[in-house]
Amino acid sequence: MTQVKAWAAFEAGQELKPFTYELSAPESEEVEIEVSNCGVCHTDLVFIDNEWGMTPYPFVPGHEIVGRITCPCLLMIET
Ligand SMILES: [Zn+2]
Repeated sequence: MTQVKAWAAFEAGQELKPFTYELSAPESEEVEIEVSNCGVCHTDLVFIDNEWGMTPYPFVPGHEIVGRITCPCLLMIET
């Protein structure tokens, strides 16, 4: 388990607040990434404000990331 420190919206239209959660270990078809940079785009703003009526709160915005894969042993390449 990895503890993640993030900023999250807890209600539609509210400011982001510090949020900590536990991340489970990667499964067989997943990789673990140490995020170095994260962007917030218009889609994140739509989700923060629940404009599509489907935002699960608390919601951590920032799905566009740059980072380093820290567990390459999980990569499976088909030939
Ligand atoms: Zn985006």
